[in-house]
Amino acid sequence: MNTPSWNIWRGVQDILFPPVCLFCSEDLQYRKEEILCPLCRAHLRYSDTHIVLHRDLMERMNDYYSFEWVFCKYRFPNLSKVKELIYHFKYKNLNYIGYIEGLHYGHIIQSKLLSLEISHLIPIPIHWRKQLSRGYNQCIPLTQGLSESTNIPMIVNWLYRKKNTKSQTKLNKTERLQNMKNAFGLRRRNLAITEQPHFLLIDDVLTTGITLSEAAICIHQRYPSAKISACTLAYKDYTD
Ligand SMILES: [Zn+2]
Repeated sequence: MNTPSWNIWRGVQDILFPPVCLFCSEDLQYRKEEILCPLCRAHLRYSDTHIVLHRDLMERMNDYYSFEWVFCKYRFPNLSKVKELIYHFKYKNLNYIGYIEGLHYGHIIQSKLLSLEISHLIPIPIHWRKQLSRGYNQCIPLTQGLSESTNIPMIVNWLYRKKNTKSQTKLNKTERLQNMKNAFGLRRRNLAITEQPHFLLIDDVLTTGITLSEAAICIHQRYPSAKISACTLAYKDYTD
């Protein structure tokens, strides 16, 4: 996305619509791709999941599926600014937020992804009905950004959502499990996959881990020898 004509178009846009901070509407120094001003960005809580294996997160996930590693860019306690960022990313159709956040996070976790030999990035799909009504799948630009900064290929339209699941937010744990059971399927396509692939599943937020686990279980059934890790923009931190 750095062709001369694109750069000229971005320059014109910046003059017509000066870039402002998504949270406080202060002018941004350069472009809207900064998303936030330095003061608002200082309120976001970054996690260190790319350095330390978080036992509590792994245990949360391991109830359902044993992931190799779990990466989350931000911690997401109650009343956190991260909540606001996710809202814009998920519901306001602001594709560039996911893309820029993914691009940035890719640079941070690149060496860890290399050491884990991650071979493919897979965005968690949404059901086609939801995609029609929402207009886009927020996980795709996030994965595109990660893929661009790490040079790890992404696979789209392979894993798909069979069930148009209800929103998980108001369901208890048992209802969530039932809601997500067999929610995913894999299309029959020949993919250039290495003998022992290590897939990284990408989602927006990690709460109970049920969505990511169901997707992993679906892939594991087709590729039992594959390793699977997970990566999200943020995780819900229940300790805060
Ligand atoms: Zn701001």
